[in-house]
Amino acid sequence: MYNPAVSQKSTKSPSLRDLPKVDALLSSREFEELIARYGRKPVTEQVRTALDDLRQRLRGNVAAGADELTGAALAAAVSAAMQKLFAPRQCRVINATGVVLHTSLGRAPLAPRAVEQAMREASGYSLLELDRESGKRSDRDLLVSELICRVTGAQAATVVNNNAAATMLILNALADGREVICSRAHMVEIGGSYRMPDVMRKAGCRLVEVGCTNKTHLRDYASAITPDTALLLKVHTSNYAIVGFTEEPALEELVALGRRHEVPVFFDLGSGSLVDLSRYGIAREPSVPELLKSGVDVICISGDKLFGGPQAGMIVGRPDIIERVKKNALFRMLRCDKITLALLEGTLELYLDEDRVFEAVPTLRAIARDPLDVRRAAEDICARLKAAGVDASTAASSSQIGGGSTPGEYLPTTVIAVRRLRKSADDAARALRLATPSVFCRIESDTLLFDPRTLLPGQESELAQAIIAARV
Ligand SMILES: *Cc1c(COP(=O)(O)O)cnc(C)c1O
Repeated sequence: MYNPAVSQKSTKSPSLRDLPKVDALLSSREFEELIARYGRKPVTEQVRTALDDLRQRLRGNVAAGADELTGAALAAAVSAAMQKLFAPRQCRVINATGVVLHTSLGRAPLAPRAVEQAMREASGYSLLELDRESGKRSDRDLLVSELICRVTGAQAATVVNNNAAATMLILNALADGREVICSRAHMVEIGGSYRMPDVMRKAGCRLVEVGCTNKTHLRDYASAITPDTALLLKVHTSNYAIVGFTEEPALEELVALGRRHEVPVFFDLGSGSLVDLSRYGIAREPSVPELLKSGVDVICISGDKLFGGPQAGMIVGRPDIIERVKKNALFRMLRCDKITLALLEGTLELYLDEDRVFEAVPTLRAIARDPLDVRRAAEDICARLKAAGVDASTAASSSQIGGGSTPGEYLPTTVIAVRRLRKSADDAARALRLATPSVFCRIESDTLLFDPRTLLPGQESELAQAIIAARV
């Protein structure tokens, strides 16, 4: 057995000969505990790394104290490294930014009911691609396509990995090697290298740009149609607004034009909503069911934006188009896994009752939250902070939907403002980010702002505790 006392007794600087042996260390009691907890392989690797490090330092005459060579010191160092290695990479996050769909914070938080259901389904075998009735193979998207049709009124539907994948797939399935007409007002960049002209090229389509940034007329589309035109494309201007002297044809007009020339109309909607949000102070934007009524041939939307579900791209539209999309070779590469499908299923079920969906889906709940309710939460948190000596007050402010939806639109809210900080505002925000749970807020003129609108149920007191504990 390795005896730590041996290397401790000498007071002169340790030499390479004083380095403990790996085997001896691993059979000591401290290391047996670490091995039981974390496994032999990672602990052994870490011991070797720690000893290599000491060896390098002794060789390079960089001072290493005798106390660093003891079994206890090495065990402590390895234990710290193991804790770091095994700590959850994704810790719990409190989003107090007031940005409902924060792309860096994972966009939509999922509905607890959908998660519970999905976890039950995912931990065992599933009916992913099997029809129980016939015992034969079936399509995995049938698990959700029926529900998508039911809540959107679509005739047919399918689902892929995300909305970017859906757009690429639809373009390739319907217009590979052919022309796609799109207004210059719709040449969007969503971020993360998603730019419409590049997507077109990758999908094998020839982009035909028409109109101007601010104005595109129906006749611009009409005069660009050739026998080689495969699609008329409309893209939702998710993250910018063109205001002032502007014009674009109504979707119905575009559809009528497409019909006359037998060219389908595709709408890349991005953050489309399945329900009407205008009664919650969001500018009137047609919901997916309304858009479908206009006769548009195919629409795709993100699963994790306003819909409030997992990352996915839902495609709805004409049955023959959905069929072509599903037969395309890319479809197999862009398909969803069973957990995503289960989460989508669980979220879609919540949409069956339009009255309850605003309570059940966290994204919609945050948007629909009564400003009075937000103010009460802000006052409650503020009182807790003041009781702990934090210089906090409440102030009227605004929340944002974010995630590429409703640009330039804000929801009235009440924030908690923390002034006269002990640290700089940036350092205070950093301390909060590094806390567990990790807290995100806004900084405005050296003040930290916390917006309760984006807190999940029960996070009020947690937020107050985190702010107090971080000693901002
Ligand atoms: C967000 C968005 C996309 C990309 O969707 P992901 O789900 O992030 O892949 C594509 N088009 C529009 C118009 C969008 O708003």
